[in-house]
Amino acid sequence: MSKLGCICGHTIVDQTDNIIYKAHFVRDQDKEAIGEQTTDIEAFIEAVRKGQRDKWLNNYFGSDIYKTLTDATVVNDIISRYNVKFESEMFVCQNCGRIKIQKGNENKFVSFLPEDNQWLGIFKGLSRT
Ligand SMILES: [Zn+2]
Repeated sequence: MSKLGCICGHTIVDQTDNIIYKAHFVRDQDKEAIGEQTTDIEAFIEAVRKGQRDKWLNNYFGSDIYKTLTDATVVNDIISRYNVKFESEMFVCQNCGRIKIQKGNENKFVSFLPEDNQWLGIFKGLSRT
């Protein structure tokens, strides 16, 4: 998604990182599945230890382009695969406070109107005090 229209007329723009009005979420029923990335990372480490790195990478990613990449990049891509599969996005309209929640993996968003005016900064990062 790069732009999302709100019923109030505001356009929500998603074209950079660290957006104060955007959040990512994982559904409770997917938390266990996303935790399996640890198992995949452990399997990768074990393959490296056994000297089967290239074979494991080709089997896991279905491509040999990973052979030349660092172990850190491989681990990052394992994590990214799970994030892409199980994470969804939500936005708060900076004009009216409506929350837009992504429906599944579709490019569709369901809109919710806030009951009070406490929404400003609701998705501000906790590391950004
Ligand atoms: Zn709005």
